[in-house]
Amino acid sequence: MTMPAQQHRIVRVHATPLKAPVDFTWLGSSRKSSQSICLVEVETDTGLTGHGVTQHIDSSTIAAQINFAGSKLLGADPMCNERIWQMLFWSLSGGAQSQYASWTLAAIDTAIWDIKGKALGLPVWQLLGGARSRVQAYATIGIPGADIDELTTAAKRLVEKGFRCLKTQVGRPGVDHSKGQKPLIDIIRNDAKRIRALRDAVGDEIEIGMDAQCRLDLTHAVKLVELVQPYDVSFFEEPLIENDVLLMADMRRRCTMPIHAGQSEALASRFRDMLMHGSVDVLQPNVAVTGGFTQCAKIAGLASAFNVPINGGGYFWHIMHLQAGVAAGTTVEYQTAAANACEALFSNLPALDGDWITMPDRPGLGFDPRPEAIKEFTVK
Ligand SMILES: [Mg+2]
Repeated sequence: MTMPAQQHRIVRVHATPLKAPVDFTWLGSSRKSSQSICLVEVETDTGLTGHGVTQHIDSSTIAAQINFAGSKLLGADPMCNERIWQMLFWSLSGGAQSQYASWTLAAIDTAIWDIKGKALGLPVWQLLGGARSRVQAYATIGIPGADIDELTTAAKRLVEKGFRCLKTQVGRPGVDHSKGQKPLIDIIRNDAKRIRALRDAVGDEIEIGMDAQCRLDLTHAVKLVELVQPYDVSFFEEPLIENDVLLMADMRRRCTMPIHAGQSEALASRFRDMLMHGSVDVLQPNVAVTGGFTQCAKIAGLASAFNVPINGGGYFWHIMHLQAGVAAGTTVEYQTAAANACEALFSNLPALDGDWITMPDRPGLGFDPRPEAIKEFTVK
């Protein structure tokens, strides 16, 4: 006779806005930076604590919303992640999910999956399906304001560490006029110079990707693809404003460079539209942005039905669970700033072996925030 499963009830949800320090000396740059992280901890009456994160510049605002949402979860069963997700979705967004609702859901849902794993004694990647026990990483250089020398120095260090695919940002500030206006043609010509320098620095065997973070229009995104054509760029991530599904489909018809998109998206229906319109080569549901594992797993299922792979950006050690767990999973982004901040914040993070990571056996996410780091990095 099997024993009845233990009942768990949520007794506390608490979000903390953090600013974790980021140090780039290991990449040869003296620049210092910081990473805004909103950490949520969910506790049960059975003594389990799950944690999750989301990312936003204003972590204090998102923390306030998470604490409001958390008050609705007291007494809820954390094993029923779907029931919790639906309840929060409707109470936070009224059915048309805003980005704040998505960020709030992402942090809480990740913590719920951490609790599920700890309660069942299984890692999250196995709860999601356990499709593979190792995943490959690609590195995003990610040093804010890096000049060409810093960019190429950091790239060489990352290659020495074993990364075989590097991503760099392009198109900034692009159509984001809040940071000053600059002609797009000047921006992309400068981007092409940086990509050429990067190719010269790392040689022919290393893959290079570029990411415009939705900051270009169609004309200039296509022009940038032409300008970097001699330097063998492997993919273009979120090239166009608003991840416009029709414009991305048009761009794919004009260019052979693969398009990746979705890291900034909230709604599952946006991913459906990208698939239906043939807008992307790779979908990128982001656990820390796109509503946590509960929704990202659905998007991964959609991607599988279209035979389109997913890859992942954002917080490496969280997203690796999705990429390892589901059939459509492939590679995980190692964003150097976010990874550095996580190393300062969490204990028991599994280490990379070259550019591969072996998935941990530890239950839940397999790592935990250090209480003294939470205290030190809390935004006052
Ligand atoms: Mg991106």
